Amino acid sequence: MSRVLIIGCGGVATVAINKCCQNSDVFTEICIASRTKSKCDALKDKLQPDTKTVITTAKVDADNVEELVKLIESYKPEAVLNLALPYQDLTIMDACLKTKVHYIDTANYEAEDTEDPEWRAIYEKRCKEEGFSAYFDYSWQWNYKKQFEEAGIMGLLGTGFDPGVTSVFSAYALKHYFDEIDTIDILDCNGGDHGYPFATNFNPEINLREVSAPGSYWEDGHWVEVPAMSIKREYDFPQVGMKDMYLLHHEEIESLAKNIPGVKRIRFFMTFGQSYLTHMKCLENVGMLRTDPVKVNGVEVVPIQLLKELLPDPATLGERTVGKTNIGCIFRGRKDGKEKTIYIYNVCDHQECYREVESQAISYTTGVPAMIGTMMVVTGMWNKAGVYNVEEFDPDPYMEALNKWGLPWVVEENPQLVE
Ligand code: NDP
Repeated sequence: MSRVLIIGCGGVATVAINKCCQNSDVFTEICIASRTKSKCDALKDKLQPDTKTVITTAKVDADNVEELVKLIESYKPEAVLNLALPYQDLTIMDACLKTKVHYIDTANYEAEDTEDPEWRAIYEKRCKEEGFSAYFDYSWQWNYKKQFEEAGIMGLLGTGFDPGVTSVFSAYALKHYFDEIDTIDILDCNGGDHGYPFATNFNPEINLREVSAPGSYWEDGHWVEVPAMSIKREYDFPQVGMKDMYLLHHEEIESLAKNIPGVKRIRFFMTFGQSYLTHMKCLENVGMLRTDPVKVNGVEVVPIQLLKELLPDPATLGERTVGKTNIGCIFRGRKDGKEKTIYIYNVCDHQECYREVESQAISYTTGVPAMIGTMMVVTGMWNKAGVYNVEEFDPDPYMEALNKWGLPWVVEENPQLVE
């Protein structure tokens, strides 16, 4: 019933592709296209014998719009699911515009070279006007809204877990539990242990840039920025236990502030162990998180890319990771004039994910919603020309699909609150 081009074949894509193949009534044909075609071929060989979904593969450099256009024109998909890196968001959106094909992703645009003067000028203006200094923001992609409307295609942004499921939880809370939501605390807890002294659960470059950026939250109509890791809380996570968590800037704060009417405060917390933080600080202090090239024996090397080569590949962590993740949102607000507090969350077990799709829970909790968001688009369940975040649509079919496809959720009334 649908033909989808999936770009990228890393940790998240592997899960999303597994899930598409389990859902072959919707995903009748998929093409896996990435920079390294051998990875796409290996995944196809593994999955094709057990699925009705017809899988093809292709090589593509997603930084190159013309190459993308050629591939889209020859494969003729209804939608492109971008599971490469945030660096490729705009080139893939450009190609979708040129070919009039729907676009879906899980992470907002980031510039690969943050020293590029043209990008830097726009970034610095935004820092001043908006008040947060993370390298990523939605403005680049929201700017495509009019063009997507005119082309009659849809761009669905951020259908991973956070952003993604946490944003759908927010729309669901507003639809079914509240007249007004005052505060949202998004809590992302990984209680998993992979046994390495240091490794990141998804692409190291993207992950380390995210967590080493200053923290920020939305309060009373503006951003409040604080030094990285300077706000710490403890929380007793259902099925995981007590963990330290730290306030981070996170991309869904930006879209939820716009799309949840009247919300007064939105914060995002992620759990980190002390060893992770010590490693990260040390790497940052010695310059290993730098994204600009340095010369080593006459060869240009980007330190964070070298670090990525040295660290364990996140796609290989699954087998050795034990424990659970718990990701969700605590909402405070009012219903029928009465104060109300609820916590909606999902618990995901690393080893169960590994048994199902040979992946750890971080890739799983992103790959499943990537498949679900794409399903919403290609089945027409969510259908509106323009560029949108997931909380702008009816959350009910997505919430139902989460239960069906491996990420069941819980609504807890009167939960423990975060100070
Ligand atoms: P990986 O690094 O594991 O995979 C990235 C894939 O993209 C690789 O297959 C890589 O190819 C491919 N790729 C990179 N550059 C290009 C290019 N120029 N052209 C074609 N293919 C390219 O990343 P993850 O799977 O961990 O992450 C995928 C996405 O998911 C990221 O955008 C990440 O930010 C997002 N994410 C979102 C989350 C959420 O909850 N919303 C949580 C976690 C991740 P190669 O194999 O050759 O390197």
